Amino acid sequence: MSEKAELVQPPPYPQSETQSQVVVVQQQQAQGVTPLLGEFPTTVNCPQGHQVMSNVYYKSGTMVWVVAGLMVLFGLLCFAWIPFFVDSLKDVVHTCPQDGTVIGVYQRLKI
Ligand SMILES: [Zn+2]
Repeated sequence: MSEKAELVQPPPYPQSETQSQVVVVQQQQAQGVTPLLGEFPTTVNCPQGHQVMSNVYYKSGTMVWVVAGLMVLFGLLCFAWIPFFVDSLKDVVHTCPQDGTVIGVYQRLKI
């Protein structure tokens, strides 16, 4: 039994110097996302670039008028002014404390 071991050397690879790299660039777009506004001050992104705790004030909105209208309908005309002084019926306007920009409005009743 004779064995011939032949060592065949593989030809040296030409090493390509251009390595293709896949670069994944992840861009998170956090801007423009406004959290749901409620009736209390919330951390919001102002359109001017501030991230602030919003100032809130109350504004007579649809709900106030609906309740007032119902009172008139039911003959409670002399009480129809009350909803205009009840904050929990009013819409809540969120503004930026730094520049006063209105960021959003929480509406009690959307029509
Ligand atoms: Zn601002």
